[in-house]
Amino acid sequence: MFHFFSNLFYRCVAPDHPRGWLDVHAVRGEAGPEPLLWIHSHGMERFDRPDVEIIDVPLDLGGHVHAILFDVVDALKNGGPLASGEELRGPFVSQDQRGIHVMTLHTIRRPDDPEHDGFQRIVDRGEAPESGFPKRLLATHLCSLADTKGSPGDREVRYSRAIELFPGEPAPRDTSTSFEPGTNPGNFLSWYGRAEALCDLDEVDEGLRCLRQAIIRCPAWARKFSQHIRDNAPKRGGEDEPLSKFWIENDIDELVGE
Ligand SMILES: [Zn+2]
Repeated sequence: MFHFFSNLFYRCVAPDHPRGWLDVHAVRGEAGPEPLLWIHSHGMERFDRPDVEIIDVPLDLGGHVHAILFDVVDALKNGGPLASGEELRGPFVSQDQRGIHVMTLHTIRRPDDPEHDGFQRIVDRGEAPESGFPKRLLATHLCSLADTKGSPGDREVRYSRAIELFPGEPAPRDTSTSFEPGTNPGNFLSWYGRAEALCDLDEVDEGLRCLRQAIIRCPAWARKFSQHIRDNAPKRGGEDEPLSKFWIENDIDELVGE
């Protein structure tokens, strides 16, 4: 019922927004210890665009996936259709979010199921259609939400869920790989956010452990940021804060083992 009224609301207030015309289905997978959801839209033909889907969604992330689908269909409507395998980017939480939402869309054929044929499946950037749930995308989303507001405790819960979902790995030694901190390599943004939140909660030891994890995931960022702290923390009297102290006293190359 709520969905119906909220559709009407959008149709009256923002008649061009797909939100007012779309239905979103959340289909539960096979019963198991933890059934996963297939969440997808219906109604995009009105805008001459394919419907979109995300598969294997953990139950607790259904609401976030719902929100991302609406941002994606809005981007497709305004930016034009994408060919299968193309990449889509956008700041979907706020203009100044630290990481960017980035994903690849693949067209999925279902000749036996005309109602769901030709949908575009959202997966992590560069991944195959069968790769399932876009963990990196959702981790960046949770991280962006945590960055925008909330008490340190609330923020910490979101960063922790993002890390549980996608712990990430230390950066590869091969430094020729392109460096784009905004794409959240190794999910370093969640580790860094959690470090800040824990230090705000006076859990400094665990906070610094998380900071080390952030640094080994994105050394190129850490080198720049370390210099920034060295140049600026003393000026604003912040050199005694636990995080600033750590940046000033530690050598990044040593921490990443180079
Ligand atoms: Zn459906």
